[in-house]
Amino acid sequence: MVKMSDQEGNRDNPYSFDDYVIVKNGFNFYRDDDFFQALIKKYIPINEFERIDSELRELSDIVSYRFKALATEANRLENRVKCTIIQHFDAYNHRIDKIKRCSETETLEREIFDLGLFDPKRNCPWSKFVKMFLLYQIGEAGVMCPIACTHGAVELLQKYENELESEAYKILTSLRDGIGGYGLGSQYVSEIQGGSDVPVNLVEAVFEEKEGSDGISNCWRLYGQKYFCSAMQADYAIVTAKPKNVPSSTRIAAFGVPAWLPGNKEREIRNSYTIDRLKQKLGTAELPTAEITYNGAVAYPVGPLDKGLADIVGIVLSISRLHVALGMAACLLKVAREAILYSQFRTAFGVPISSFPLMINQINDINHNAMRSAAGAFKVYSEYIHFKEELVSGIRELQKIDDLTERKRRYRLRELIMLQKIVVADDAPAIIRKAISFFGGHGIMEDFIDFPRLHRDSLIMELWEGPRNVLLTQIHRDFQRVAEWYTADDFVRDLLEGVDQETVKFLSTEFSRIISHDSLLRNDEETLEICRDWEKLSTDLFHIYQDQALVELNYKEKPLRFSKLLRKFKKKPEEEEILIEL
Ligand SMILES: Cc1cc2nc3c(=O)[nH]c(=O)nc-3n(C[C@H](O)[C@H](O)[C@H](O)COP(=O)(O)OP(=O)(O)OC[C@H]3O[C@@H](n4cnc5c(N)ncnc54)[C@H](O)[C@@H]3O)c2cc1C
Repeated sequence: MVKMSDQEGNRDNPYSFDDYVIVKNGFNFYRDDDFFQALIKKYIPINEFERIDSELRELSDIVSYRFKALATEANRLENRVKCTIIQHFDAYNHRIDKIKRCSETETLEREIFDLGLFDPKRNCPWSKFVKMFLLYQIGEAGVMCPIACTHGAVELLQKYENELESEAYKILTSLRDGIGGYGLGSQYVSEIQGGSDVPVNLVEAVFEEKEGSDGISNCWRLYGQKYFCSAMQADYAIVTAKPKNVPSSTRIAAFGVPAWLPGNKEREIRNSYTIDRLKQKLGTAELPTAEITYNGAVAYPVGPLDKGLADIVGIVLSISRLHVALGMAACLLKVAREAILYSQFRTAFGVPISSFPLMINQINDINHNAMRSAAGAFKVYSEYIHFKEELVSGIRELQKIDDLTERKRRYRLRELIMLQKIVVADDAPAIIRKAISFFGGHGIMEDFIDFPRLHRDSLIMELWEGPRNVLLTQIHRDFQRVAEWYTADDFVRDLLEGVDQETVKFLSTEFSRIISHDSLLRNDEETLEICRDWEKLSTDLFHIYQDQALVELNYKEKPLRFSKLLRKFKKKPEEEEILIEL
């Protein structure tokens, strides 16, 4: 064969990316992924395996082609602009605050919500989780953010299912059971003065007996501004506010708030709030995030009025944090796969770029990082399922559990959710950036590959649902609160069961030293040093947990082979047809 560099010039350059496109577009996220299948085999209980495996295969045929194509189309540069449009008034001077989105996102959203992920008649805990894992591979934040929020809202409402007033109960049956169509949830906590410090929320809840202009009397109404409201297209929001004229008026309560009162959605009359502005964001562009003002929106309490903070943080935000990690892990599997396949397709200096030692290390790194993120996400989520998907709201509630073994295990889950969120949100942008580099200049092209979008979106993960520092501080404080019944040393030993003793000893000693420092809030040399050590140790600790999850999977890796997949997909024209049908 003549090397390209030895060839004469040729004005009819025959170079083509077609083979890469065939492999990238032909890949079925579940059927063709041995690693994903190994995770399913390891974690799905035997009696559920056959059904879940078959449902995943069926769904994967849609997600890998139709849903992926819809997400790609929605995120074309010219379509992205359409995601951020709001029409405040109609032609007849009515305030409607209508959000207009790209039709592909709306189609995708309807089809994904119609899967009834949170409907116990249609999904068990494991099938829900693995379907979400599959869906997250397309990385469509416009749809997956409301999925995460709906999940949190359902869990919170379910906790108080027997105590909810009828309108709040209807929110649950819409979100969970699809009565009247599967509704979309959202969560509005952050305000202009701060998102990390939720207790300083100022939005008021007032109980008003008098009938309002909406015809409703004897209800709670909200007043004030929320400054970061994602999934603004949602039907319902879980909102934090301070209830006036009650003994706990300085504390946070949680409310279920419909976006429209019954019958008003079609008439475009919102539930007494205005959408003041849609934010212009670095990432998650197809997700409308708004600043809004409540002017007496009807709101239904969820849980005791003085327990909102613990419930929101312990349940709603914890579930979102699980989603950040599982979403990024799923996305990383796809990113690693597509980058590695490209490195086997692309040649430079006469050889595939995957054969350069510098690249080999980088390929191994992104592959390992993606696999351990996924293995870790499954292991953490299996703990959540072990507890029947019920999270304890806070340390106080945890301390009421008499069985010390269970109490410790629940505590480990609480801390794991935070640790995982911090670490995966930090790893993801770095891994995606590395994967972009495999494509050289093409990695930067929005229409060549979706990594630029995924990279932008991954940067958001660190900030929402509790920024890194806030979670690191929270974990540190938690350990001081439970010191009497769970030492940092024991925690590390329990968490890292199976890991070699030397590593465990080193980590547990280091962790105990950091936790024994009484506060991270003092500005002195020692605290600065401890903070630096804690940042590093938190990452090391969770990486080792992820590595152990990978070891436990006992996966005999079958490396991806571009040429083999190309042969396979060239024989498989039916997926192309699905793509064209769009
Ligand atoms: C795209 C996007 C969508 C969002 N959607 C929603 C939504 O739907 N609903 C919602 O309620 N919120 C939403 N948020 C808001 C998000 O939850 C907040 O941005 C986040 O909680 C941080 O709050 P803040 O922006 O006010 O930052 P601040 O609270 O002002 O924090 C600024 C910095 O200070 C650091 N810091 C704060 N406290 C401490 C401490 N004790 N120790 C050390 N450092 C500290 C933080 O780590 C952070 O780096 C969204 C944010 C983004 C970016």
